[in-house]
Amino acid sequence: MCQGRTEDGRLCGVVSPEFSDLEAMCGWSCVHTMRYPNHTSFRMVADVPMVLVPQ
Ligand SMILES: [Zn+2]
Repeated sequence: MCQGRTEDGRLCGVVSPEFSDLEAMCGWSCVHTMRYPNHTSFRMVADVPMVLVPQ
């Protein structure tokens, strides 16, 4: 999700499609930053698998 600000100061908030690899995600953010040069801050919403190990 883009954390850049639009010209009137609102949060851009454009959400990318889901990516399963980091390279595709970087590609998307590069294209977005090329279009909006001041949008250089992004938030990654990650789905991280975890396994609980009983002690
Ligand atoms: Zn943006």
